[in-house]
Amino acid sequence: MKNVNACKNCHFLTEKDVCPNCSIPTSKRWRGYVIIRDPDSSQIAQKMNIKKPGKYALKVM
Ligand SMILES: [Zn+2]
Repeated sequence: MKNVNACKNCHFLTEKDVCPNCSIPTSKRWRGYVIIRDPDSSQIAQKMNIKKPGKYALKVM
């Protein structure tokens, strides 16, 4: 994926400069991602405290 930023707080991946969930600036420096389709039944989502389906970075620098 190119030109995608990750939120430093919730790790949400977005093309925008500001996270639509947290309203804080996003970072271009991130590694790896997961696609969460159903946060309620995903152990990763629960571990990362994700409540909303979408793509999330595993690590944000
Ligand atoms: Zn966020």
